[in-house]
Amino acid sequence: MVKYSVVIPVYNEALVIRETYKRLKRVMEQTDGAYELLFVNDGSKDDTLDMLKELAVRDDTVKYLDFSRNFGHQIAITAGMDYASGEAIVIIDADLQDPPELILEMIEKWKEGYDVVYAKRTKRKGETFFKRATAYAFYRLLRAATEIDIPLDTGDFRLIDRKVRDELVGMRERSRFVRGLVSWVGFKQTAIEYERDERFAGETKYPLKKMIRFSLDGITSFSYKPLKLASLLGFLLSFVSVVWMIAVLYLKLFTHSTVTGWSSLVMTVLFFNGVVLIMLGVIGEYIGRIYDEVKHRPLYILKESWGIRRGNEKVPY
Ligand code: UDP
Ligand code: MG
Repeated sequence: MVKYSVVIPVYNEALVIRETYKRLKRVMEQTDGAYELLFVNDGSKDDTLDMLKELAVRDDTVKYLDFSRNFGHQIAITAGMDYASGEAIVIIDADLQDPPELILEMIEKWKEGYDVVYAKRTKRKGETFFKRATAYAFYRLLRAATEIDIPLDTGDFRLIDRKVRDELVGMRERSRFVRGLVSWVGFKQTAIEYERDERFAGETKYPLKKMIRFSLDGITSFSYKPLKLASLLGFLLSFVSVVWMIAVLYLKLFTHSTVTGWSSLVMTVLFFNGVVLIMLGVIGEYIGRIYDEVKHRPLYILKESWGIRRGNEKVPY
């Protein structure tokens, strides 16, 4: 057992991993207890794994899990929490956008009695306008859509107490939105603020496609509002249609100015078909996720690991 676990998901991070290790090491040496650096290799295709091995051979505090393929950032974090043995667990990105030095501040808060200390971004450096704008919009949309209180502008960089981790380990949902789950669990939570740095090297491992999927996971896992919105829109349009029908009938029966319009007909048909298809899409997003859940596949598959005691983890499959 160690006092602190640091969980670091890595996907093709060969360019940054040594520097990350150095900075983390420097910070963790200043803490008051034993610690482990638990890397989760999310199916990297570059030299990441070799570098992890090299570090692990030299340094006992370095441990790693190696996935059989790329399962995604949120799943990698989950695996890290499953196998972390610390009393406090820190989740941090590998690219040094989240400054490791903040961990010391988090630990202070933890000692004051907080169970979750999350890091809120006040500024984001070196990211494109598009990324910042979409992230800004996403967090506000999420807040509007969900009932639970998911903090704004907060990523997965946080410290959680072991008891929070124990609750999270029991939640095996597939379309995972870990920061939402942490909020959902409750306990005593607090924030510290920081300025998000630039990526140390390499480029983002979150292309647009993954970002969209991730935000849909966030919204669908914590809200039915899109479905409610669909039915509300349905009612609204039906009402408008009835008024429209009455007007058309009136013109047809009581006046001579029958509407000739082929154009209006086509427009109506196209518009309503579009709306119906969008609503079906919304329903589809939910059904697809239900389908994923009922298959009950494991969240991830491990190829190998280092320094981890296997078999005693509480991972219900
Ligand atoms: N990551 C991962 N699996 C993935 C994508 C990303 O484990 O499929 C890791 C990545 O190595 C990094 C963290 O998740 O440590 C955050 O990714 P990134 O910095 O690329 O995202 P961004 O900061 O651009 O949103
Ligand atoms: Mg990053």
